[in-house]
Amino acid sequence: MIKLTRPPKPVELTEEVQKQLTKKFIETKERVYAKDYIKDALMIMSHNKCAYCECNLTKESNYMEVEHFHDKDDYPDEVVEWKNLLPSCKHCNVNKGTHDTYDEPIIDPTKDDPKEHLYFKSYAIRGKDDFGKLTVNVVDLNDTARLVMVRFKIGESIRKQLDNLLTLTAEYASGEKNFTRRKNQIVRTLRDLLREAQPTSDYSATASTVLLNDEDYQQIKKDFQKANIWSKELNELEQKAKECALEMRGSLDV
Ligand SMILES: [Zn+2]
Repeated sequence: MIKLTRPPKPVELTEEVQKQLTKKFIETKERVYAKDYIKDALMIMSHNKCAYCECNLTKESNYMEVEHFHDKDDYPDEVVEWKNLLPSCKHCNVNKGTHDTYDEPIIDPTKDDPKEHLYFKSYAIRGKDDFGKLTVNVVDLNDTARLVMVRFKIGESIRKQLDNLLTLTAEYASGEKNFTRRKNQIVRTLRDLLREAQPTSDYSATASTVLLNDEDYQQIKKDFQKANIWSKELNELEQKAKECALEMRGSLDV
């Protein structure tokens, strides 16, 4: 889960339209919120990902559902209230169910910064405080097959790539293999790794946390700086990755 910035509500969703749709929902229970202009705006907000688990909603069976942060049946007045809508995958939507977020608040990624309340340990996401713990529990952010295994695959792939990159970078920085082809290769590899850790990437909290906390990454960065190839672009990508990264507790080694 990462912090999301909510854009202004879709222009189609005027006060008048909102009133009509709310009335219709209360009378008929129809899915009045399932409008393309609502769905499209939510998908732009979350970079096509589930607001809770960060799975890609344009891939495979992960179709997007309009999630009501405050349950629509308990709080029908908010059924098309822009600030109450989140893009979610079916799993997270079903898990959260009719949980009452007024009675027992959980993280709303458009209002709260998840990294203040969550940390990363052995590819599981855990709560730093009761607010974070309840969120993990209600949304089930540690479904083994669906989420923990996926995070493991992403993380181990990043660590393997860093391991290879470390040797190549050390050789380049020491002047041993100081030619342009090598430079382009290592810059491209590091840039691609950082791109995997951007807010726009799937499971960016996992990718950024694993990448930035890895000792090899820190050494590679030092070697890049030593060889004068740590560019403004790489620095900007790293800053963005930091926005998604969670605190890592413990080691990923088994
Ligand atoms: Zn989800």
